Order: sequence, then C-alpha cells, then structure tokens
Amino acid sequence: MEEKKCPECGKKVGEVDTCPECGCPLNVNSNSTSTNNEEESLLIECEACKKLILRDATNCPNCGHQTEIGAKNEYDDNQANIIIGAIAAIISIVFFLYFYFIVK
Ligand SMILES: [Zn+2]
Ligand SMILES: [Zn+2]
Repeated sequence: MEEKKCPECGKKVGEVDTCPECGCPLNVNSNSTSTNNEEESLLIECEACKKLILRDATNCPNCGHQTEIGAKNEYDDNQANIIIGAIAAIISIVFFLYFYFIVK
C-alpha cells in the first residue's frame, strides 16, 4: 500500500482525509478531477465567433477578436508606459537640477 504524504507539511500520514499535523485536507480522488478541469480550462470560447481558443491567447486565431487576456496585456502595457514615462520625467528633472547646481 502506498504511503500518503501531506502536500502541505510533507509528513507521512495514514489513510485519513485530513492531515493530523497541519489539518490540510487530503483528497485521494482530487488528482483525476483536477486533471480534467485543467484540460477544459485550457480552452475558452471566443466572444465574437464562439470558437474554442487557447485560454492564454491574446487574440482569436479564427477571427482576430481580442480576448480578455489580450485586453489585460494591453492595459498592463499602458500601465507600464505610464510608469516608465514618470520615471523618465523624474530622471530628467534630477539631471536638470544636478547640472543647474553644478553650473551655479
Ligand atoms: Zn500536513
Ligand atoms: Zn473568434
């Protein structure tokens, strides 16, 4: 018989549903169920053409419609550009003050 280990604390546990060490739930059937869910969650439905596309795709390969991830990436890019712009502005101000006081 295979000895079960707690995924949380790594201690060897017997045939119990809950780890006696840390209280972590030990579901024997969780592996097969989670694998199926994972396979299903890899695909999402395109909002525009209703075809199944990869979850992490930024655009639908069928119709080119931008997915939620694509929209989020664009938003993140915009946020990054704002931060880079702010840093560049601060650096230019620091340089301006630096040279201003050096010349003085
Ligand atoms: Zn544990
Ligand atoms: Zn599509």
